[in-house]
Order: sequence, then structure tokens, then C-alpha cells
Amino acid sequence: ITLQLGRMSPRETERMLEFDREHIWHPYAPMPATTTALPVVSAEGVRLTLADGTELIDGMSSWWAAVHGYNHPKLNAAVTRQLGKMAHVMFGGLTHPPAVRLAERLIEITPEPLTKVFFADSGSVAVEVAIKMALQYWRSQGRPERHRLLTVRGGYHGDTFGDMAVCDPVNGMHHLFGDVLAKHVFAPPPPLGYLAEPDQAYLDQLSRLAADHAHELAGIIVEPIVQGAGGMRFYAPEYLRALRDIADEHGILLVLDEIATGFGRTGELWGCDHAEIAPDIMCLGKALTGGYLTMAATLCTDRVAHGISSGEAGALMHGPTYMANPLAAAVASASIDLLLSRDWRDEVDTIEAILTAELDGAEDLPGVADVRVLGAIGVVEAREPVDVPAVQEIAMAHGVWLRPFGKLIYTMPPYVCTDDEVLHIAAALRAAAESL
Ligand code: PMP
Repeated sequence: ITLQLGRMSPRETERMLEFDREHIWHPYAPMPATTTALPVVSAEGVRLTLADGTELIDGMSSWWAAVHGYNHPKLNAAVTRQLGKMAHVMFGGLTHPPAVRLAERLIEITPEPLTKVFFADSGSVAVEVAIKMALQYWRSQGRPERHRLLTVRGGYHGDTFGDMAVCDPVNGMHHLFGDVLAKHVFAPPPPLGYLAEPDQAYLDQLSRLAADHAHELAGIIVEPIVQGAGGMRFYAPEYLRALRDIADEHGILLVLDEIATGFGRTGELWGCDHAEIAPDIMCLGKALTGGYLTMAATLCTDRVAHGISSGEAGALMHGPTYMANPLAAAVASASIDLLLSRDWRDEVDTIEAILTAELDGAEDLPGVADVRVLGAIGVVEAREPVDVPAVQEIAMAHGVWLRPFGKLIYTMPPYVCTDDEVLHIAAALRAAAESL
């Protein structure tokens, strides 16, 4: 009977968890593991079901991805339909309708100058490709000395070596490798606050730094408006506009990592929409497939594509085995259709309103340094690093799954949460804040 319900016996569960602890790496974890992961046996709507039958509202959207929730009939159907035709085929010398359909759709919904699409298999690779595009663009122009990127501290762009080099070098997860990473140019993080008045001294500092390094800069890379895993910091659109102006002034490329911010999460379809600017190169991932399959994309302008292709190499030297995977491409198109068929803006605004109201005053709690909400993102920043298992226990007592890190307790719920589900998530965050 327990199996019919999708549950596992306590003995089976314990055996699985013991093997998991001893043999399987989890994100940012030691081996063997010193904590035990929660066993999930199924997920439906916005709820995860654990082996013992416990249901938790997913406050994390599986790290920004599952914007439509789980086991969605339309997304399931898109994968199943494509599975009956072709699960995968190499992309070297071959193409297929799911890839072409998705590329058409992406070009249609992203800022106008972006017309070329590279399909990557993870967000980290999409950023690697963006960096490669920027550097190869200048190599093709006979300017190989333009091989550095200007970025801001507090950023996060992925875990591979190219990406780590543009992550926050001090507070990030990658300081361990600082001595072997490529050297880029770092500005201080943009001042906190989406609504903050622009700080002229900061803008001047950015301009000076860019001017000092212009001769060696290929481009600028940042996450627009929301710096995610590097600190869940929100900044004002003026800073993004200033970076666009700086890129134009020096003829360098603006690379926007929209992997976390894309597909409506911040209240606009793209983070760059807040500043009414367009990048030269844009990275997408996470919610691209609605959390179903691993796919990301790097889009660029005609200028970048022609610049690269007119160079000595003549080709962009990148080509993952699972490039443009048809199952992922099919579900990505379905996910975009689903998003745009609903009033996603209203869904995100409602989440923003509920989180804002329910967390009001929490910034005055003794253990809380700051509370911030933007779009479907809510953050409680503690004064000290939080006791993660203790916070998770509090959240679970409210029927909610959260995954804090460092000083940050945060949520980015699936857009399809009901008001009541968002209230549960907000209550979990508030209780966690009160416990600090
Ligand atoms: N860039 C940003 C802004 C991200 O948030 C992430 C994922 N946390 C990545 C890049 C890397 O994506 P992935 O984990 O799919 O490799």
C-alpha cells in the first residue's frame, strides 16, 4: 500500500539515505555528506512529497526553475510528444523542429537586437559561451589584448573555471581558486536597493574604472537588477543603464546573465527591461524549460555573430554533445507558451505584494539585518550566518521547503502558487526571521 501511494518504508528510506550520504555528491557538500538530504518521491503542483508522505510547498522553485510547478500536464505532454519522435540527436550538421521553434520564440521575446541563439546544456556553460563570444569577438577584430571583463562584486555566474573568474572574488564560493583563475576587473557591488537614488560617486567610480581598463576590456558581465547566489542583492535600474552607456562609450560588449532573473522573476520579463536597455549577449537558463530538463541558451546580436565569424577561426569553437536537446527544446517552447498564456505579471505582482505585506516590520527583529522583496523574490538577510538545519526545521513546521545559505533566508516561489500557499511561505520566512 505504501508503494502504491508513492511512499517508501522507513527501512527502505534509511538504506537509500545512507547510500546517498556515502556515495553521492550534493551541491556544495563534503563527501561523505555531513547532513542528510530529504528524500523526495514525487512532486505535483507546487508541492514536494517526501518518502514518508509529508508534503512541502516548494519555496525555491527548484532554484528559480519550476515557475509552473511540477508535473504540469502541458509540459508533460510536450516531453511525451517529442519523446515519441526523437529523444536526442547530435546538433553537428543536423537540425530539428524543436530547436528551430524554440530559437524563433526566444528571438521574438528577448530584446530586439538579439538575433542569434547558441543552445547550451546548463547555465554555467551558457556563461562560458558568452565569455568565449566576447573574447573571440575581439580576437577576430585583431584585438586579442581585449580579453578581460569588467564586472561587479557580489555577482555569481556559475561554477566552471571561466565563470568562477567573474564571480565575487572575496565573498563568493570560489576564493579557493583565486590564484589560478583568469584575472578580470572588479568594481564594487552596485549600492543596495531597487528604489535607491543613484549614487553619483559610484557611477563616477564605474566610469573611471572602465576608462582605465578600456584598452584591455572585451566587455562587461553582470546579472541585471538582482544579484542572485552572490548575495540576493537588488540594485537600481540606473546602474544597469550606466553600464550600457559605458559599454557603448568604449565599444565593448554588454553581457547580461539573465539565468536567474529571466522569464518574469523580477516583475519584468527580463531584468534588463527595468532599465529599458538591451545587451549584446544574453544568457538564459533555469526557468527556460520550466524546471523540466537541463538547457540554457546564449543569445547575441548580428554584430557579435558577424564579428566572430569574420575572424581567422571563422567559427565559434563550442559544441556540447547534448546541444539543443529536442526534449528540452520542446518543453522549453511549451513552458514559454504557458507563461505567456497566463497573466504571469499579475501572478508575480501578487507574490510580491503578499511577501511585502507579510514581512513588513521583520527588518526590526534583532537578528535581522535587512528584508527585501522584488517581483517573486523575498529575502531575509540575517546579521550572522544562519543555522541552516534549524531554519529548515522551522520552515518545515510551516509545511514549506526553504534552502538558506550564509546569512540569507530567501524564497522564489513558483508563479502558480495560490495566495494561501504564498502566505504559508511568508509565514515560514517570518518565523525563521523571528528565530534569529
Ligand atoms: N548564472 C546565474 C545568475 C545563476 O544563478 C546560475 C545558477 N545558480 C548560473 C549562472 C549557473 O547555472 P547552472 O547552475 O545551470 O550551471
